[in-house]
Amino acid sequence: MAMTVASCLSVEGIDWTQLDTILLDMDGTLLDLEFDNHFWGTVVPGEWGRQRGLDVAASQAALAPVFAGERGRLNWYCLDFWSRRLDLDIPTIKEGYTEGIRWRPQSEIFLQHLKASHLDVVLITNAHPVTLEMKAQQLPLAQWFDCMISSHDFGTPKETPAFWTSLMNERPFDPQRTLFIDDSEYVLDAAQVYGVAHLLTLRQPDSTLPVREETRYPAIHHFEEILEGLPSID
Ligand SMILES: [Mg+2]
Repeated sequence: MAMTVASCLSVEGIDWTQLDTILLDMDGTLLDLEFDNHFWGTVVPGEWGRQRGLDVAASQAALAPVFAGERGRLNWYCLDFWSRRLDLDIPTIKEGYTEGIRWRPQSEIFLQHLKASHLDVVLITNAHPVTLEMKAQQLPLAQWFDCMISSHDFGTPKETPAFWTSLMNERPFDPQRTLFIDDSEYVLDAAQVYGVAHLLTLRQPDSTLPVREETRYPAIHHFEEILEGLPSID
């Protein structure tokens, strides 16, 4: 029987028996995007401005077009690029803020259920490998995944077709039997073009920002909405 997105992702939840692979984004999906938004939106402009005698608001205004110019490109996620571009030691600054790295609600419960399941559980992130390592040190991330991939290793972000070709080579998957969860709808667009059949987004990637009512892809607020059908963990 031909499978459609609707047959797997319905209001009743997910038919996990129709899936072999789950691809999971990190920031804004499993982890609270508040950390990244605060770091890049406030901490980095603050440090940059401090060296130039500017307050945070003036720095934010000055840097907004600089950041906007790199959005969706690998540079956007690249600590080396921003260290050079802004003349700041971004990894060292980031080290000082690691206590702000937090799970989203229910992420660990969800990952426990996935670990107990038949699924190949793969983290795919645009985070720089240094950031990924920092986050994996702060939180026990790695134990939940069969494989963790930073798009920097492929030299191209998840928003591009080349990423998906590289992922297929590195960690083969059946697009028809794969669920991909990511808070970025631009990233989901690229996955859809590649042919990933089951796509899901999040209503509140950043716990300090309003819940998104309008999304272009099916959305959940908390993972409890899709736990049914996964093995129990007690
Ligand atoms: Mg994300």
